[in-house]
Amino acid sequence: MMHDCLFCHILAGEIPSEKVYEDDDVYAFNDIHPKAPTHVLVIPKQHIATLDDAEDAMQLGLLMQKVSYIANDVLKLEAGYRLITNVREGGGQVVFHLHVHILGGKKLPF
Ligand code: 5GP
Ligand code: ZN
Repeated sequence: MMHDCLFCHILAGEIPSEKVYEDDDVYAFNDIHPKAPTHVLVIPKQHIATLDDAEDAMQLGLLMQKVSYIANDVLKLEAGYRLITNVREGGGQVVFHLHVHILGGKKLPF
């Protein structure tokens, strides 16, 4: 089912993005407004609006394992990295398709 969602449109190729990694389950691409030298968004291919809407623990675990793979093996963030997932309006979520921000490439404040 196609959702009228920015990241679903990116997944469908209707909005261009800079792909970093893709497999059957996830898609990773550069954030359009990077807040660190490396700033990548990892999204499940299945539309899930927020973390609170995720019902499948296996799917969430797989997503996090793939985030780790992308950070290390694709982005080569050997010094380490930071993950952020904003959840709903009060958490600063703007795009309502679950995503994990990977930030790295410099020493991050606190
Ligand atoms: P949120 O606040 O929902 O966690 O983060 C949404 C992120 O998506 C922001 O960091 C924003 O810069 C990024 N973003 C918004 N629109 C686009 C877009 O069209 N393309 C890309 N690559 N990133 C986007
Ligand atoms: Zn979506």
